[in-house]
Amino acid sequence: MSDFSPTQDDLVAYLRGQLTAAESGAIDARLARDERLRDLLERTREVLRIVTESTEDSTVRRANDYLRRGIEAGASDVHLDLERDGGVVRLRIDGALHEVDRLPIAAARAVLARFKTLFAMPPENTDLPADGRLAFGHGEKRLDLRGSFLPGIHGGRLCARILDQTTALAPWDKLGLFPEEEAALQRLARLPHGMVTVTGPTGSGKTTLLYALVRLLAGEAINCVSVEDPVEFDLPWVAQSSVNPARGVTFAYLLRAVLRQDPDVIMVGEIRDLESLQMLVQCAITGHLALTTLHTYNAVATISRLLDVGLEPFLVSSSLRGIVGMRLVRKVCPECAEEVRAPLAASVAEALGIADRGIPWRRGRGCTACHQSGFRGRTGVYEIVEVSSALADAIAAREPEPTLRELAFTGTLPTMQGHAARLVIDGVTTPDEAARVLGITW
Ligand SMILES: [Zn+2]
Repeated sequence: MSDFSPTQDDLVAYLRGQLTAAESGAIDARLARDERLRDLLERTREVLRIVTESTEDSTVRRANDYLRRGIEAGASDVHLDLERDGGVVRLRIDGALHEVDRLPIAAARAVLARFKTLFAMPPENTDLPADGRLAFGHGEKRLDLRGSFLPGIHGGRLCARILDQTTALAPWDKLGLFPEEEAALQRLARLPHGMVTVTGPTGSGKTTLLYALVRLLAGEAINCVSVEDPVEFDLPWVAQSSVNPARGVTFAYLLRAVLRQDPDVIMVGEIRDLESLQMLVQCAITGHLALTTLHTYNAVATISRLLDVGLEPFLVSSSLRGIVGMRLVRKVCPECAEEVRAPLAASVAEALGIADRGIPWRRGRGCTACHQSGFRGRTGVYEIVEVSSALADAIAAREPEPTLRELAFTGTLPTMQGHAARLVIDGVTTPDEAARVLGITW
């Protein structure tokens, strides 16, 4: 018996009382003189406790309840953070986090374990980050959830992203476009060739707008192909591929394959490398319509970005046909909206180009419908540039940004500031929210 070395399975059986008296006795003897085995036993006991607790009804119900509440509140994410003394559950609604529950640490660990099971993550790897997916039924709806676990000193955190087709695939009238902006986008989407980029920071609705453009075209007698990182939503009539850098399937690799598919329209998720960008520009020049997103501050900054990453000015000027800059701004909650007569702050009025600081505006007082935030739902703030020949010439000549900006907004289309100002005047959002989203300091 001296070389008997129990495995973790043996310890599980031991803790569950499934061994014979002799087998238990052998493990007892070994435990008495083996400190490492005693450690392993304690860790096994902890895992068993979590597994047992996590399969209890209350934990299962709780985990489902948080996801359900997130979906019903229209949240984009459900967060569970384990802290020193317990767990915090928060929902991200319209871009802001709202706390919805606090749990004792044991219950929080059990819910975390349950989430990991739901998202098919390995429950025992508490010290490694993990990802997983879950198809979650909610009434008639079937939602895709993407879970990600990040370990931490108090047990880590789990974020469940809710991928809602009805939000991501919003119809045109839900995008918050003014009629002249919608007309401009329709013209851009129907160009026979050239590049159109949608720009803005993370979470600004770029993908939703890109999908709307593609859906406008899909189904017409054209071949539409997309390369995404990763594919999040099924688009009918679009052949979609996901990049997989771990297996060498990069944007550039997929783009080469896509070009052999005789595409009319190529949609590419956010591009991060010069090689892919050069390939996309080549596509745009050689008779394809190329749609992509870029992470830049505004429409004109996109031109500088394309030049800064190393594209030749003549390539940018001959391929770039349209730029859409966008943000999402929170809308005043209709349940608790009130009119305000206080004059606008001078700096905000100036930045938004509102001449009359005395105009009435609206804000939400805060109510249960809006989690006391005064806001409910979001809408887009846009600036759309259709590249004219004058602007293309200025790009080729490497004119500075202020010159490009002057040439970009000569027609009837508003800048983002102009678009936001109209939302303030119409009472859709508050001056402070418009200023915050546009990064205006006052
Ligand atoms: Zn409200």
